[in-house]
Order: sequence, then structure tokens, then C-alpha cells
Amino acid sequence: MIEADVCVVGAGAGGAVAAAELAEGGARVVVLEQGPAHDADSFTARPSEMLARLYRDGGQTVTIGTPPIGLPLGRGLGGTTLVNSGTCFRTPAHVLERWRREFGLELDSLDQAFERVERALSVSEVTPELAGLNAAIARRGAERLGWSHGYLRRNAKGCVGSGVCAFGCPTSAKQHTGITYIPRARAAGARILTGASVERVLVEGGRAAGVESSAGQVRAPTVILAAGTIHTPVLLKRSGLASDSGQLGRNLTIHPATAAFALMDEVVDMGHGVPQSFYIDEFADQGIMLEGVAGPPAYAAVALPLTGRRHAEVMASYRRLAQFGLMVSDRPRGRIVSVAGRPVIRYDLDPRDLERFRAGLARLQQLFEAAGAREVFLPVPKGVRPEQVRARNLKLMAFHPLGTARADARPSHGVVDSDLAVHGVEGLHLADGSVVPSALGVNPQLTIMALATRLALRVLAGPGG
Ligand SMILES: Cc1cc2nc3c(=O)[nH]c(=O)nc-3n(C[C@H](O)[C@H](O)[C@H](O)COP(=O)(O)OP(=O)(O)OC[C@H]3O[C@@H](n4cnc5c(N)ncnc54)[C@H](O)[C@@H]3O)c2cc1C
Ligand code: SF4
Repeated sequence: MIEADVCVVGAGAGGAVAAAELAEGGARVVVLEQGPAHDADSFTARPSEMLARLYRDGGQTVTIGTPPIGLPLGRGLGGTTLVNSGTCFRTPAHVLERWRREFGLELDSLDQAFERVERALSVSEVTPELAGLNAAIARRGAERLGWSHGYLRRNAKGCVGSGVCAFGCPTSAKQHTGITYIPRARAAGARILTGASVERVLVEGGRAAGVESSAGQVRAPTVILAAGTIHTPVLLKRSGLASDSGQLGRNLTIHPATAAFALMDEVVDMGHGVPQSFYIDEFADQGIMLEGVAGPPAYAAVALPLTGRRHAEVMASYRRLAQFGLMVSDRPRGRIVSVAGRPVIRYDLDPRDLERFRAGLARLQQLFEAAGAREVFLPVPKGVRPEQVRARNLKLMAFHPLGTARADARPSHGVVDSDLAVHGVEGLHLADGSVVPSALGVNPQLTIMALATRLALRVLAGPGG
């Protein structure tokens, strides 16, 4: 049995940040992470090998519904930040205003938390040189069409543009939490246990008392769950907690995404340069965000929406292939169901979000045509125009699950309050994507980290602090 002031479950975006801030503030912290520690020296940049090592279930997590959607999750020290693209957006002001209005969330001091996180992760804007030719093509199209655009801000100090962020950054340029906040937590005295799967939260007399894990029991008066949007609700359910509002496991948004390829006249070599380096936010107010995506040949071969001979021909021209992505700010149409203690993800695309995909695909086609593409390959069946596509025909992926233990000041409407404290259980907090109460329209890691920073500083300040 281990004793601590704070037990943190999960070492991803939220957990690692909370652990470091608390340990540096003087708390005795124990972190329990189900996955392993990963060593960048062994990262091969080969997608098939790295998927199996860095992702949960080899990256094969999928939603059940129409259409089924791949929803990959990272696992280990760094969690999903280990495999993410490094894009850093603050929570848009209009989203924070909506949270205040609809969910009663007063999130003062979030700006300071963002600054703190951005400093810790060395966030800066990608240069056009590092962004590479794939981004230059999107930029050319956007400029010709007069669409609002820009280079993304990222947490990748000394990035060399090797193009394999999603398969483990081999140079450790990407400042994921496994190499930033976790070492800080350890240096400040935190105990970090890997291969430690938390089974349930212990509650005694209405307040948190610790957790039961595969590594034994941890006793702590403050417990912070950060197992991620998919696993935190299952852990709460297994512990018989937080079900009073009926919101646990519900309100899942995933920011579904798809991408188009284009065959250009020029050499693109999309595997060179930062894959996600450029964005087009012209249609952000319609819930449509266009963002860069790219990868090496082994990745493109799987993603290219062609088959047979044509697939082989186009892959033979890989050096002239360009790609760009599209994400839809979605309605909360999903939920997590716990089956034998494991999460099953239900999600059906809302008809209004289908309309957004139709519009977004037409925009991608327009973008590549304006950039001078010889041929555009949309992820739709042969002969189907974007405006005709059905939900079941869409080839979607999603990378940003949020909302399954949403924050709402009213105990009857949400699972945690503005301080991310679970309603009705003293000393139990959540610090991951599960608390984010609505789609953000942008990539979420900075939002999760800023919320975790704010939570840690409030826990250190104590009640009323
Ligand atoms: C390919 C990809 C690219 C992405 N790109 C971006 C991007 O560019 N920018 C951006 O902002 N976001 C991006 N994201 C999303 C972002 O990384 C996640 O939103 C964020 O990491 C989620 O943080 P979290 O703390 O909720 O969970 P995670 O970071 O997933 O951490 C949860 C951790 O908890 C552990 N855990 C789970 N259950 C247990 C248990 N029972 N006991 C102990 N430990 C447990 C897991 O193993 C995991 O390590 C991307 C995601 C993917 C998959
Ligand atoms: S582009 Fe390469 S060097 Fe840069 S963050 Fe991604 S994997 Fe690391």
C-alpha cells in the first residue's frame, strides 16, 4: 500500500500536467499509468510497428454506429500526446462564453493557465520551410480563393519536419507530456508507476480515499482521474460513482475528420515536413475546419480512397501526392457504454454534421482545384458527388473525444463543477477530455492541459483558495 496526498490516474495530457503542478507545489503525488514508459531511441517511424507499440489496441479502437469511425488513443507516459500532431489551439473565446451561459462554468484564471502550458511546451508557430510543400499547396489554393488561413502553433522544439508525429517523434522534438511534465513531476518527488491499471476509486464516508490498482492500493485524500474521455466514465461506473445526474458516459463529441488526396504536377513529397502545419478557418463559424494531414508512403497507401490497379498507379506517383484534412465540430451524438468493465463507444453522425461533411468535401475539392491539382480523390464511393454522400459511405476517423463526464455547475446536468470536482464526492476530481462540455471546433490538448493546470493550482490553494 502506498500513501500520498494526491493520486493521479493516467499520465496523458491532463494527468501529467496535474501531477507536475501538484508535485512542484509541494504535494506528495503518486501517478498510476496503465501503459509503459516509451523510449524515443527505439522509435522506428514505421507505422505498422509504432501503431502496435504506442496505441491502445494497436490503434484499432472504433466507434459502433453509422458510420463506424476509427478513434485511436495513445497509451503510456504521455498518453495520447505521445502520438498526437502537436497542434496547439487555446479554447476559442466564443466556446468559453457558451460554457458560461449554458453550463454555468466560471473559469477565471484560464488565460494564465494557457500561458503556463505554452511556456512549458515551447509552443510556437510552424515556419513555412518546416511546413513543407504539402502545406504550400494548400496555402496556394487558399490564397487564390481568398480563404482565411495560417500556419499552426505547435509544441515541437527543434522539429526537423520528419513527418511521423503520429508514429512517435524519433527526435523527441515534440514536447509530449511524457518528456515534459512527467520528468518535472518525478524531479519534484512524485512516484510514477507504469503498467498500473486502476480498477476502482475508493470512497469512504462520502469522500475520496484512494484507488485500487493492479499495482496495489494507493491511499490518498485527493484523487484525480485523467484516464481519458473513453476510460474515465467506465472507471467511475465500475466504482459506482457519479451516476446520479444520468450524464455519465453521455454527451460524447469526437470532432470527426476525413481527408482528400490530390495528384499534382509538381513533386510534393508530403512525407517531408510537418504533417499538420497549416489550417484554413474560413468556414470555422459553420463548424468546418480544414487542417493539414500527411504521412509516409505506408500511411498514404492505407488512407488513399482508391482500390486495385488505380490505387497502385497513384501510389506509384506518391511523390506528387498532396493531402489535406477536414474536421467537423459535431453535436454530442455519442456515449460510452460499459460492457464487462470495458468501454464500448456508440456514436451516430448527426444529420446536420453529415451536411457539414458534404460542404467540407466540396471545399477540399475546390481548394485542390484552385491549387492546380491534376486529379482530386475524395473519400466517397466512385461516381458519388460530395452533396450526395450518405453517412454510411463516409470514411471517417476521429482524434478528439470529449465530454463524457461533462462539467456543469448544476449537479443534475453534469458530472463535475467549475473546479472539476465530482458533484457529491469530496476530494475526487477529473482532469481529462471527459470534462470538456461541448465540441471545441479546434484540437483539444491545450484546453485539457490548461484545465488540469487550473485544477492543480486550486487543489494546492485548498478550499476557498
Ligand atoms: C493521432 C492523434 C493526433 C492528435 N493530434 C492532436 C493535436 O495535434 N493537437 C491536439 O490538441 N490534440 C491532438 N490529439 C488529441 C489529444 O492528444 C488528446 O485530446 C489528449 O491527449 C487527451 O488527453 P487526456 O488526458 O484526456 O487523455 P490521454 O492523453 O489519452 O491520457 C489518458 C491516459 O490514461 C491511461 N489510462 C486509461 N485507463 C487507465 C486506468 N484504468 N488506469 C491507469 N491509467 C489509465 C491511458 O493509458 C493514457 O495514457 C490527437 C490525437 C490523436 C490520436
Ligand atoms: S515532424 Fe518529425 S521531428 Fe517534427 S514533431 Fe513530428 S515527428 Fe517530431
